[in-house]
Amino acid sequence: MSKMNRRGMLQSAGLMAAGALAGCALPGVADNRVKTPFVVAQTTVPIVGSDQQWPVRRIYCIGRNYAAHAREMGSDPTREPPFFFQKPTDAIQFVTPGQTADHTYPPLTKNYHYEIELVAAINKGGRNIPKEKALEHVYGYAIGLDMTRRDLQRAMGEEKKPWEIGKSFDQSAPIGPIHPVAQIGHFEKGAIWLKVNGVVKQTANLNQMIWSVAEQIAKLSEAFELMPGDLIYSGTPENVGPVVRGDVMEGHIDGLPHLSVKVV
Ligand code: MN
Repeated sequence: MSKMNRRGMLQSAGLMAAGALAGCALPGVADNRVKTPFVVAQTTVPIVGSDQQWPVRRIYCIGRNYAAHAREMGSDPTREPPFFFQKPTDAIQFVTPGQTADHTYPPLTKNYHYEIELVAAINKGGRNIPKEKALEHVYGYAIGLDMTRRDLQRAMGEEKKPWEIGKSFDQSAPIGPIHPVAQIGHFEKGAIWLKVNGVVKQTANLNQMIWSVAEQIAKLSEAFELMPGDLIYSGTPENVGPVVRGDVMEGHIDGLPHLSVKVV
């Protein structure tokens, strides 16, 4: 063994030990300071008023969380417990406020839908979090789009196969910056709307959610251990619909800057 290799191994071992001591190493999760053949980019989202960026861990999304949207999707909102799906972390497309970002029309679909949503950012993890304490786990909020290849989602649903191809694809999660609760508070009510080419398509109030953000955190944490960095897309109101290339979507939530993307 050359001196160089031996020193490298010693350094790696030292770093791994440091990681274990710091409690960073989870079983089955590689410490990010070990040597790897290439580097996978960490998805991050800017935090308003900070030079730090939010490192995205998981993206959870709740389904059918506004009664009128549940009905338009063909289900009965009064009987259904909440259900969740995930998008891959790198499905995030950050959109700078005040700008209109190009958003690529994805492959395989002929029915590409918008879903405007409030996004909660979790900075304190936990399991079985009671809903009364749940908002203490929220660092901040953002405006986001849960973009959906509706034709693929429906086709998979009809075949009782996973929705994934309809929901969990590249750039399927446009998002604005994260606004800390310390600056803007919580979002339990307020207008949420989406315009396409200047025409209002979706419009509702956040207080029409079937399951509040606090309840979503409580329910999610029964199934998964929530961790810092997790994002929760909290569901979309009724009147989802299609966009085509050239369309400009503008999203609004009271208290947040608009989110604007052009489909290209
Ligand atoms: Mn959605």
